[in-house]
Amino acid sequence: MDKKNVCVAIDGPAGAGKSTIARAAAARLGLTHIDTGAMYRAAALEAVRRGISLDDGPALGKMMGDMDLRIEFTGGVQRVFIGDEDVSEAIRTSEISAASSRVSARPEVRESLVRLQRELAKRGGSVMDGRDICTHVLPDADVKIFLTASLDVRAKRRLDELLEKGENASFEDVRADMERRDYNDSHREFSPLIRAPEATLIDTSDMTLDEAIEAVVSHIKEKA
Ligand code: C5P
Repeated sequence: MDKKNVCVAIDGPAGAGKSTIARAAAARLGLTHIDTGAMYRAAALEAVRRGISLDDGPALGKMMGDMDLRIEFTGGVQRVFIGDEDVSEAIRTSEISAASSRVSARPEVRESLVRLQRELAKRGGSVMDGRDICTHVLPDADVKIFLTASLDVRAKRRLDELLEKGENASFEDVRADMERRDYNDSHREFSPLIRAPEATLIDTSDMTLDEAIEAVVSHIKEKA
């Protein structure tokens, strides 16, 4: 595997463990992890803070043009900044999860972020995860993976994460939010979440986190 140039694309629904698994797999292989969901989340946070309607495409497009969104990597780990503020943690609330699914349906937001994502991928040696990476952002990626798990397993994982952070949440609410987000992400007009026919399906429902990381790492080593 040529680590300097290898390009790995991972797509999948919310809560499939994409970011956690992609970050760990990238670290094991000496690659950089690029989390595109974090970019849509930062756009959503900025829209909420500015009081912009989450469905107002032109206003969101203008916001993308003048917001100072910066992506930095420390030891292969991505941090997201708006101006000088590190928002990497602030974008992880349930409110921002729901808002990101709405702003991501707007082509004005997608165009701007896809441009940034392609620019970042040009540096080479990366694992990028999202919803449209295999199908749209990096159609020529060396390795393509569709990572998924059953809705119940994904909701339980997300619930545990939220409870650990001290957020108040119930399994039913988290499951319903996730189902809604899955529906929006797979039914939107622009770059919906679909499995690219050439992407390898990895279902992590019955895997521990370590097993899922191992499955992804071995697949990358085999294909790259
Ligand atoms: O992956 P994560 O849950 O952080 O993504 C947040 C939201 O951003 C998703 O629900 C989806 O609507 C959107 N997204 C997207 N395209 C990507 C990555 C994320 O539309 N490549």
